[in-house]
Amino acid sequence: MARCGLLGLCRYETNKLVRIQSVRLGSLKWILNATILLFICIMMLWNREYQEFDLVVSSVTAKVKGVAQTHLTGIGDLVWDVVDYSGPSQEKNSFFVVTNVIVTKNQKQGKCPEAPRNGRLCRTDKDCEKGAWGQQNHGIQTGSCVKFDVLKKTCEIFAWCPVETKTNPPRPALLAAAENFTVLIKNNIRFPAFNYFRRNILPEMNDAYLKSCNRANDSLCPIFRLGDMVRDAGEKFSEMAIEGGVIGILIKWDCNLDRLMQRCLPRYSFRRLDEKESNRTLYPGINFRYAKYNTVSGVEERTLYKVFGIRFDVMVFGQAGKFSFIQLVIYIGSTLSYYALTSIVLDWLIGTSCYSAEVGQNYSEKKVESVQDKQKCVLCVSYVDENNIRLLKKSLKKSLQDVKPMSVQPRKEDTGHLRAALSLLQPGVDVDHDAQPLLNHKPEPKPKVERPSWCKCDCCAPSSLLQEELCCRQSDGACITSSPLFERLVLHRPLLEAVLLYHDPLSAPADRGRTAALRHCAYRQYMSWRFGDPPVDTQPAIPSCCVWRVREEYPSPDGQYSGFKPTRMVSMQACANGEV
Ligand code: ZN
Ligand code: ZN
Repeated sequence: MARCGLLGLCRYETNKLVRIQSVRLGSLKWILNATILLFICIMMLWNREYQEFDLVVSSVTAKVKGVAQTHLTGIGDLVWDVVDYSGPSQEKNSFFVVTNVIVTKNQKQGKCPEAPRNGRLCRTDKDCEKGAWGQQNHGIQTGSCVKFDVLKKTCEIFAWCPVETKTNPPRPALLAAAENFTVLIKNNIRFPAFNYFRRNILPEMNDAYLKSCNRANDSLCPIFRLGDMVRDAGEKFSEMAIEGGVIGILIKWDCNLDRLMQRCLPRYSFRRLDEKESNRTLYPGINFRYAKYNTVSGVEERTLYKVFGIRFDVMVFGQAGKFSFIQLVIYIGSTLSYYALTSIVLDWLIGTSCYSAEVGQNYSEKKVESVQDKQKCVLCVSYVDENNIRLLKKSLKKSLQDVKPMSVQPRKEDTGHLRAALSLLQPGVDVDHDAQPLLNHKPEPKPKVERPSWCKCDCCAPSSLLQEELCCRQSDGACITSSPLFERLVLHRPLLEAVLLYHDPLSAPADRGRTAALRHCAYRQYMSWRFGDPPVDTQPAIPSCCVWRVREEYPSPDGQYSGFKPTRMVSMQACANGEV
């Protein structure tokens, strides 16, 4: 048993192929394969599939430059330089530019009326609760109701007075001139896997270049005009400046680090990141407050600024690729399956009527080998008045004669058998000279009353088994057993003995003379004659008249016969050796 298992291990199974000799199919195959190869190569070069990639790691700093002059009511002309408009804090990878401002001057700690928008209107002191504080309030209520202006009275509060009363930013924006400010973006990148460093200020850029370059004529220039960036993002600076917003500066690095095609340059693009429809958005833009403090004759004062502006967020992304043999092998491996498309297309083409129907039939016959389940025994039937062979399944209700065929196939001649049988029939080739002369037996006509309903030839005998109820004919007529050829091919004793000797050349004459062996050989002769080469996995069924005629010629001494057992195909050897 162990040897058996080992033998099973030392075994290799491979697919059987069908080769079609066809110029059309052959050239189509090569055209398809060449197209697939071309596609694979283009994809490989286009997507650089032969490279391994690493993602960028980067740092960004920005330096804004520019000066703007504004006129503020109550303050007068004011010059804003970078310290004023950059806002108090610099966030990581972003910078802020003030574009609009609401100034509230000379605020001192004290008591003053709340702005009607933030507090509530009142008539008497009873309306104002002392010590109360609301989320919108600028300070804490003192409990008095005081005049805000000529018309309105509001609760008095303890706060930085006077309170900020303006809510809407000035239009047009006070610092709309910030459009002409410039920013120098410094971006250092690194690809850790390849230990590769790079800056967006390229080595060949010198001081003179940076002073004069602009994006209109050099897309690599790292100095940007704010107005240009906002315009590239599809916005209008003058509108965006009023309430502020967020602009994204996208720097994309797509680097090829292979020596032959080395290239690693940044690509800049701009996009607005916040919701721009201010009439649809509840709190549009960006704003925040800060104050500048000073002391006037011992009292602390402050100037409050509510600033609106544009925040620029710099986002860096990208990757670098370098040739990798492993990646190349993986890519080639992943593309091999595409070649299966060729066989799918060609098989489909052969299967459809687009190609020759004859070739398709031939191809599928050669390619597909159908195997029947052992349980489903398919019988084949050959009628003497019909050229084809019928394939049918045994029925439990109908006699075999009446079962409808599953399919009808042309008869395939077993030429080897035909030639052998004919050569044995040649005069002077009689192998057994002791044999009786050719039988001249006429079948005794059976009494007419016995003819079963399914018989068409008048020679069949009734049977208790439905599978044995089969006649030699489809329509009424003469029985095949009445043909002289039946005598010669099926019943002729010297022929049967010669066939038995052919299969077992050393058998004793007594063995060959056994009636059981001769009877079974006669059945086999009948099958070879009438079915030729029967369809694969089917079993020929012999008509009742022929069975009875053979039994009559070679009877069983005890009158017992095994009958028709539809099982798998029997071999010639089984025919020669024993029961069918
Ligand atoms: Zn019959
Ligand atoms: Zn018959």
